[in-house]
Amino acid sequence: MYIHTMLKAYEYRLYPEEDQKILLAKHFGCARWVWNWALSKKIEYYKQTKKTLNRYDIQAEIPKLKKSEETSWLKEVNSQSLQAVLPHLDAAYNRFFSKKSNFPKFKSRKNRQSFEIPQNLEIDYEKGEITLPKFKKKGIKCIFHRKILGEIRTCTIKRSRAGSYYVSILTEDGTEPPKKPVPKRNKALGIDLGLKHFAITSDGTKIENPRLLDSSLKKLQRVQRSFSRKLKAHKKGEPLSNNAEKTKKKLSQLHERVRNQRKDFLHKTSTQLIRENQTICIEDLNVQGMVKNKRLARHIFDVGWGAFRQMLTYKAEWYGVNLLTIGRFDPSSKTCSACGWIKKDLKLSDREFVCESCGSVLDRDVNAAINIRDFSFIGIRNDSESTPVSEASLETQSRKSDERSHSQEAPRSLAAG
Ligand SMILES: [Zn+2]
Repeated sequence: MYIHTMLKAYEYRLYPEEDQKILLAKHFGCARWVWNWALSKKIEYYKQTKKTLNRYDIQAEIPKLKKSEETSWLKEVNSQSLQAVLPHLDAAYNRFFSKKSNFPKFKSRKNRQSFEIPQNLEIDYEKGEITLPKFKKKGIKCIFHRKILGEIRTCTIKRSRAGSYYVSILTEDGTEPPKKPVPKRNKALGIDLGLKHFAITSDGTKIENPRLLDSSLKKLQRVQRSFSRKLKAHKKGEPLSNNAEKTKKKLSQLHERVRNQRKDFLHKTSTQLIRENQTICIEDLNVQGMVKNKRLARHIFDVGWGAFRQMLTYKAEWYGVNLLTIGRFDPSSKTCSACGWIKKDLKLSDREFVCESCGSVLDRDVNAAINIRDFSFIGIRNDSESTPVSEASLETQSRKSDERSHSQEAPRSLAAG
């Protein structure tokens, strides 16, 4: 029997010593190698048989690789970390088959590195250390800003492109998530995610994009330009000049700073919204589809809608808040929230919504946020004493959203009653 309990994620910065960095690098390298090896095996197998190669068949070959002279270096790292690569590759295939992402890519040493530790992680809060299998001699220095609650499910070590190390830990705390109240429209908040403002809510609040992020972005663009100039001057085949290397390093550090600032902002904003409301209504945005539109791409990445939506989803579970969504094709900005008239020719530049039917004049984004709230309640029969949302559908929903995959489908079923 499976008992549904709460999952929580923690992330801490790690400060490995030089010899630990070497062993970490071996783990990153081997995990990456196994990913690429397994991916090409799957591709090859499919070409020959038109069938998918099973994860367990791949796994069974890893011990053979360790015995073979050519790949015996795989022995130097934790074998569980190698095996742990395979379910992630399966997940990447599943996301591809369900059209949620592109075909899995080969991993490069230039990008962010990671490996997973499924078991036997030791934490020493007093010493401020984390001990990994194969690192038995000494723990890695770690700053714990808060204690981990619950039982550790998985642990992932990461190295950013700028060269900082992190550990993220997912735990299950054994408690059941709080019960959600019956959604009521008068206690619900619609949120419209925008470009000019980060978000606009149905009560008329406009949440600005953080200034800090803005100035870091400007700096980032400046360094990016300078690096591009240096690259242009650089001759193919020759190593980068010291100066260019320095700029490159600075660039990845800035990228990391922007990412951290954005994450910080998204966490604060999502927590506040979830804590202050019993029901939140959002649009089921197809972020992947939109990123393909080049003009919007930068903005979407900057504001991190996808990440924000994910945070809202799991925080709604933690705090017992309803998260309702409307379809991405519902005309939330073109409909008058007062009378339902549809303005077919609304342009992106129109900041006000002027209703030709009832005469309402509304801020465009606030109008959209109110519609997002109201559309979410279509099918929930009577707002004040609506039929309770079935526990079962909530359970499946929260289960899905707990998996760290990026594939949460919004609880459309809630809106359908
Ligand atoms: Zn109207």
